[in-house]
Amino acid sequence: MDLQSLIRSDPVIADLANAEEVVWENSSVCLFSRVKDRLPLAEADIQDAEERLFRFAPFLAMRFPETRQAQGIIESSLTEIPKMKKALQEQFQAEIGGRLFLKRDDLLPIAGSVKARGGIYEVLKHTEDVARQNGILKDDYTVFAKEKTRRFFSRYAIHVGSTGNLGLSIGIMSAAIGYRSVVHMSSDAKQWKKDLLRKNGVTVIEYADDYSRAVEEGRKKAAEDPGSYFVDDENSKELFLGYAVSALRLRAQLAKAGVAVDEKHPLIVTIPCGVGGAPGGITFGLKHVFGDHVYCIFAEPVQAPCMLLGMASGLHHEICVQDIGLSGKTIADGLAVGRPSGFVGKVMEKLICGMVTADDERMLAYLRLLHRSEGIFIEPSSCAAFQGPVMAKHMNKLRNRLGEKPMRQASYIVWATGGSLVPEKERERLLR
Ligand SMILES: *Cc1c(COP(=O)(O)O)cnc(C)c1O
Repeated sequence: MDLQSLIRSDPVIADLANAEEVVWENSSVCLFSRVKDRLPLAEADIQDAEERLFRFAPFLAMRFPETRQAQGIIESSLTEIPKMKKALQEQFQAEIGGRLFLKRDDLLPIAGSVKARGGIYEVLKHTEDVARQNGILKDDYTVFAKEKTRRFFSRYAIHVGSTGNLGLSIGIMSAAIGYRSVVHMSSDAKQWKKDLLRKNGVTVIEYADDYSRAVEEGRKKAAEDPGSYFVDDENSKELFLGYAVSALRLRAQLAKAGVAVDEKHPLIVTIPCGVGGAPGGITFGLKHVFGDHVYCIFAEPVQAPCMLLGMASGLHHEICVQDIGLSGKTIADGLAVGRPSGFVGKVMEKLICGMVTADDERMLAYLRLLHRSEGIFIEPSSCAAFQGPVMAKHMNKLRNRLGEKPMRQASYIVWATGGSLVPEKERERLLR
């Protein structure tokens, strides 16, 4: 399809092709009760995922000391950032009526990014399946910490394609179980992420191409490698469910912070989007917990708005950002994805409120502002999410749907998806 006919399907595509920052509101969004039963996954699937993580918790607590205090539950805190709110209002004319929170997935144990949810969950799910099939798992999940079990799993391999963080999460967890693990990395992957993986005994294969190519190669190599399992970021339901569990836990965190979520007090959540699994899974979970009172916005870089392009054109996985002349290159390495997931976009069609894009300059400005105002460092990919609260004032459909007063009372969550593993030198460079 040529660019002109794409632009006829949605004029936003012209701005995307020009690498402009855009605010896009989804006109297909529906009442959650109307779509809920037509989705390919259900609330029971999220609960099943949460229970599986509970079963593995004693093993995780044993194997990863940083999870011991939380008894093996991999979770992050919700932090209010009032100084950042003030700074965004002063410097970016943001109109943030209610409280502003940062969801600290940058601090998630083991992998230091949101991938510690989906990636680790999928490795554990596969591990449970293999262990059950081979009769080596009874009730005690600490069996996975035994040398004998690790030797058993060394016969199997796990492959994954990654821009970095997914590789870290899958690589570290599969090495802990005992698998051989192979991470296929795109040219955007940062050197320090490759080094850290190799230090953890993971085989890293590098490609000069972008993320979609790394996934394609990974899929091929895994098919040739007997006893191996491929974590398919472009299609995985397991990753999606691992991310979705976060919503069940967020409910308690909001209650503890005294944040009501109801008709008069909407919750507006912005999540950075790469291939779509993380923001999609989180949104899916949040919709089950808060229904129509939660409004989810995805944030993407101007050079890699793959999910927005897929949704606005209706072509989803059939189109990539290079098709409209974009490079796919961005400082937000975790979001440097040219082609969206094959199934997330379709699931999100009637669920998300809208999408925003941010350029690299702006992500860096948010990065520095957060560091200066709150003393918190998060990686550039995470910073794209500040574009949600800053641009919400331009979301006319949202304002109309909510009404003036609830809009003024809305609370905002910016989902910080990564940052704690970034080496000091790299941090200094970004802050400069
Ligand atoms: C992977 C990643 C995302 C987005 O997740 P997708 O599942 O690719 O959409 C956002 N932020 C960071 C830091 C990431 O590593």
